[in-house]
Amino acid sequence: MGYASAMGRTYSEQKRILITGGAGFLGSHLCERLLEQGCEVLCVDNLFTGSKNNIAHLRDHPRFEFMRHDVTFPLFVEVDEIYNLACPASPIHYQHDPVQTTKTSVHGAINMLGLAKRLGVKILQASTSEVYGDPAVHPQTEEYWGHVNPIGTRSCYDEGKRCAETLFFDYHRQMGLEIKVARIFNTYGPRMHPADGRVVSNFIVQALKNEPITIYGDGSQTRSFCYVDDLISGLIALMETGRDVTGPINIGNPNEFTIRELATQVIERTGSKSQLIENPLPSDDPKQRQPDITKAKDVLGWQPTVPLEKGLGRTIAYFRELLADKIEMPNEARPRAIG
Ligand code: NAD
Ligand code: UDP
Repeated sequence: MGYASAMGRTYSEQKRILITGGAGFLGSHLCERLLEQGCEVLCVDNLFTGSKNNIAHLRDHPRFEFMRHDVTFPLFVEVDEIYNLACPASPIHYQHDPVQTTKTSVHGAINMLGLAKRLGVKILQASTSEVYGDPAVHPQTEEYWGHVNPIGTRSCYDEGKRCAETLFFDYHRQMGLEIKVARIFNTYGPRMHPADGRVVSNFIVQALKNEPITIYGDGSQTRSFCYVDDLISGLIALMETGRDVTGPINIGNPNEFTIRELATQVIERTGSKSQLIENPLPSDDPKQRQPDITKAKDVLGWQPTVPLEKGLGRTIAYFRELLADKIEMPNEARPRAIG
């Protein structure tokens, strides 16, 4: 294979790529796509919110390898590129152990940046629209510095991701490391965890079970939903850019919907008998969110192609199958304990 030798690495043409958080929702799609493109994939995950079910179909692939590891500890491997996705992404998961969430973002970034530095390889950070907090600027451009509560219940995630961005840029400025920072906006699709509490998975599961659809607040808050396939194309396009492109670059779908509109669409598409009910709005819940993707269009030549109705259709089909027990529910016990 020719990629790893302690004294002087000689890489073959086939890239060996590390994906941290590779057994999660986005990570498993990225593993799949990079394997399709002929890469070798090393998937590193501690399975906190991810699942072996998400990567079960890749397990016997000759170019796929899974390693159970927590990124808050150093990692010694030989790879050509690093995608750093490890971090719980849904509020109920990241608020379950907030100290560990900050450690995952900050210590995880330090460890993966250290690895990238030792190997002299480029590294992409899965950052988030949460760095903009509850934004005072709409839509959000990359120049906006954000409006973030540093001491709230979402801060472990928001500030952890902001600090990770700082680390990425300091490694770039100080050590000349090649970095790519993607600010990911709400993404949905098959392999979202059915009990992760995120709005798309919650609404679809509730609708399929004909249970009440839980709108937090009055449902007038907005989000812009990107289908997972589009998101993965955006991340890979960013990784493929030259040294001068560091980001941050917003990757998301600018089509904005209120949460109430989303609920209505889900009911229509599932043919559900569910009623809408209003529950209290969680603290620091951003009122609106829409990416300005001008930079992604100009620099990456990327824009999303899958409209919400099509993406919802595919996601509903996935959850229908999951609930019909044709697919084993991933880690069903754990999120219940967390919730
Ligand atoms: P996910 O929870 O499905 O995946 C995260 C993965 O990281 C899981 O497999 C989990 O087990 C793993 N992980 C968590 N802590 C770890 C640790 N300490 N060491 C090793 N592995 C660890 O979430 P996702 O939606 O796939 O998100 C992936 C990344 O994208 C995250 O960094 C998230 O912040 C970012 N992101 C996602 C969205 C979205 O809408 N899905 C939006 C913005 C940013
Ligand atoms: N939300 C909701 N009902 C749910 C889950 C979420 O109304 O059952 C709302 C939530 O308050 C937020 C939006 O949907 O305003 C998106 O929530 P999610 O947790 O998916 O993502 P984030 O807030 O991190 O963008």
